[in-house]
Amino acid sequence: MDWLISETRITLVDPAGLAARMVEHLAEHEVAVETNNGVMVARLPYGTSTLAVEAEALRIRVEAADKGNLEVLRSVVASHVVELADGETPTIVWLGHESGSTFANFREVRLKASFDLTPHMRRLTFVGDDIARFASNTDLHVRMYFPPDGLENPEWPRPAPDGRVLWPEPDRRPAPRYYTIRRIDTRAGEIDIDFVLHEQAGPGSDFALKAQPGAICGMAGPLGRSIRPARWLLLAGDETALPAIARILEDLPAATSGEVLIEVADASEELALTAPSGMSIRWLHRGNALPGSTQLLAEAVNNVRWPDHPDVFAWVAAETQAVRTIRKYLRDARHLAREQHLTVAYWNLRQS
Ligand SMILES: Cc1cc2nc3c(=O)[nH]c(=O)nc-3n(C[C@H](O)[C@H](O)[C@H](O)COP(=O)(O)OP(=O)(O)OC[C@H]3O[C@@H](n4cnc5c(N)ncnc54)[C@H](O)[C@@H]3O)c2cc1C
Repeated sequence: MDWLISETRITLVDPAGLAARMVEHLAEHEVAVETNNGVMVARLPYGTSTLAVEAEALRIRVEAADKGNLEVLRSVVASHVVELADGETPTIVWLGHESGSTFANFREVRLKASFDLTPHMRRLTFVGDDIARFASNTDLHVRMYFPPDGLENPEWPRPAPDGRVLWPEPDRRPAPRYYTIRRIDTRAGEIDIDFVLHEQAGPGSDFALKAQPGAICGMAGPLGRSIRPARWLLLAGDETALPAIARILEDLPAATSGEVLIEVADASEELALTAPSGMSIRWLHRGNALPGSTQLLAEAVNNVRWPDHPDVFAWVAAETQAVRTIRKYLRDARHLAREQHLTVAYWNLRQS
């Protein structure tokens, strides 16, 4: 595959200082940086970024498989350069693959229909032109943009000349939230997304509750990572992870075995899942307890019986605190290596 390349040379008083701060920042986010002859190479989910310190400049090169990912890399790099410039005002001019008026990974989509899967899970079907880029077996997620209520002509984030994201004015700014593509049919131009309808609805849940057919929102991606194939899998999550778990299960080789733990309110929130016969599925009911307030998922993970071979992978997605607890257990007690687990905070319980 031919990767796309874009470069910038940023004049700075202290390019080495900025490079060091960027490497430190990447390490905090668990992104390893290799150094070869003074050139620093970081492999990010969207592609590769290379930093080279020159006499009075930092030369940065980004490489990605397509223009959507290249633009995401440019915006991530440019915003960090500005944030970590420590008093300097860097001018960033990218050469190669100029951006258009919207990001290449962005599409406007329209609500076609919706129906309730369970009392607190609603499936929304969206239609849109040119949605093939969202069809992926590894990147299952999208960033949705929900415009403010009543805005006749929604406005979307666009690429700034320096690669960063240029947002509409606050009163016209769409709210971004992450969701999972549950089903995509590129021929019909349809995408299904299953929304949890939760208390204190924010823009995502609110859109699912109120939007009428024809309502417009934005979709960017695809993004995120999925499981690494393994003989034995642990999939653990709450209802926000249920769409991803359902998709992962549908796609597994028939010989895969493992445990699936899913926390929901009660039996009325359970869904029929298609999975290999060796995957044991257990629903955990929190009853009247608030979502994100129990230890149910973490305790169930602690009680899992692991196989006696190392070809395992654990995938976990739920509320931030539950994910932190489980991640610590997987690393400290189960000694899973980095390539043996993926734990992602899907939402944040904000205390009032
Ligand atoms: C990669 C990824 C994929 C995801 N896929 C899905 C998906 O397919 N379907 C889905 O429904 N969600 C999914 N989520 C989770 C979803 O993005 C969050 O729940 C998000 O906060 C919902 O936005 P909102 O606007 O409804 O609420 P927000 O404005 O974010 O929050 C408003 C209030 O609601 C609370 N809250 C938020 N989410 C929940 C919840 N689930 N239960 C109870 N209280 C909540 C917050 O603590 C806050 O007090 C995914 C998240 C990630 C990172």
